[in-house]
Amino acid sequence: MSEACKLAAGNWKMNGLRADIEEARRLATLFKEPSCGILLCPPATLVAAMADAVSGSRVMVGGQDCHAHVSGAHTGDISAQMLADSGARHVILGHSERRTDHGETSASVAAKAVAAHAAGLVTIICIGETEAQRDAGDTLAVVLSQLQASVPEGGNAANTVIAYEPVWAIGTGRTPTLEQIAEVHDALRAALPDAAISLLYGGSVKPGNAAEIFAIGNVDGALVGGASLKAAEFGAIISALEEA
Ligand code: PEP
Repeated sequence: MSEACKLAAGNWKMNGLRADIEEARRLATLFKEPSCGILLCPPATLVAAMADAVSGSRVMVGGQDCHAHVSGAHTGDISAQMLADSGARHVILGHSERRTDHGETSASVAAKAVAAHAAGLVTIICIGETEAQRDAGDTLAVVLSQLQASVPEGGNAANTVIAYEPVWAIGTGRTPTLEQIAEVHDALRAALPDAAISLLYGGSVKPGNAAEIFAIGNVDGALVGGASLKAAEFGAIISALEEA
């Protein structure tokens, strides 16, 4: 664990209906005075209602993507300003599913991050290698180049969080070894534009492996997908982070 702020961030992806906002309420009740940041990023349809539901608590709400422009003819897209207006404090950018499904590049991620920072949002910028890139021995080169190209000028500890998410570990139940996570996080820390930026690990984090991952130096928390949907499971991960 470094000196950077600790953060447990949940990415609900395309999951969740209004009834599921109850899970966010439960988290707020479970963690009245947490010693780490707690963030839930539900689908856009739930951002405003969830932000209202946990208002006044220590649970923060974020979006999963935003457009690089403030407004205009972009059917189906959401601007950073709209997210902020709905009560979001953060936005995930460059998740590998967006890079794959929507052809997002590090340059487009950087442009979105500029818009998000202008709207007062903290960006959680995701980077990570594919399995083929790891097998080819290119992991560090890939993540360092994504880092350099995805974080815009002006990215600092107040407005930026980095999530290292190996693509092959997302939603698969597979994780890198602790040594592999440490190697990447050490290299990222050395390359950050601001050494106090929080570095999250993401990819099949569960209650059963959270403590050992959080014990790695330079891991400041996690970006959690499947295990963030239920307050009991995400709560166990948050507790592990509090204790790290
Ligand atoms: C993610 O979507 O960012 C993620 C890490 O998913 P999971 O925890 O389900 O692997």
